[in-house]
Amino acid sequence: MTSSGDVHDAAQRAADMLAILLRDQADDPGQRAALTAVLRAHGEPEPVEISATDLGGLRQAALTLAGVFAATDAGDAARRINALLAGRAHPPRLTSHGGTTGWHLHVDGSDDAPWPEWFLTSSGLALAVLLAERQAPPGGFCASPSCGRPFVNTGRGAARRYCSPACGTRERVARHRANEAAQP
Ligand SMILES: [Zn+2]
Repeated sequence: MTSSGDVHDAAQRAADMLAILLRDQADDPGQRAALTAVLRAHGEPEPVEISATDLGGLRQAALTLAGVFAATDAGDAARRINALLAGRAHPPRLTSHGGTTGWHLHVDGSDDAPWPEWFLTSSGLALAVLLAERQAPPGGFCASPSCGRPFVNTGRGAARRYCSPACGTRERVARHRANEAAQP
């Protein structure tokens, strides 16, 4: 967890890790390197090491977390987050990792909890706070068939369909071309 304990950052980290875990499943070293890069980029204190056992658990966790990103509305997302937390979360506790970070909330069992437990509980907590803040699903999967990346819903207003402006523009152009081709 970052020193700020910022919920948007934690949700973004969940989406970044999920994107890695859902692709390139045959490439263990590649996935582990990509995951440690994400964890370091989000300020995770060293040592950041992911074992083969951790990777197996993280892939399982990704399937559960993917259900939250696939939720169609706030109620559906809330039910899935509640189910995720019910089986796994411990009572909220504040930690500063021995004074190396700012105080922030964890719902895993201890600061030494395995990565999969930490990933699911910290992601579940961040997505729960986002949902309560926005009264909307906390994330989604990009509607572009060539992308499909998980993304975090942080803005106000209507739910997003695409992970980025680039994907939205590409799909608008593709639709426009398809319409033109369909004209007699
Ligand atoms: Zn996209």
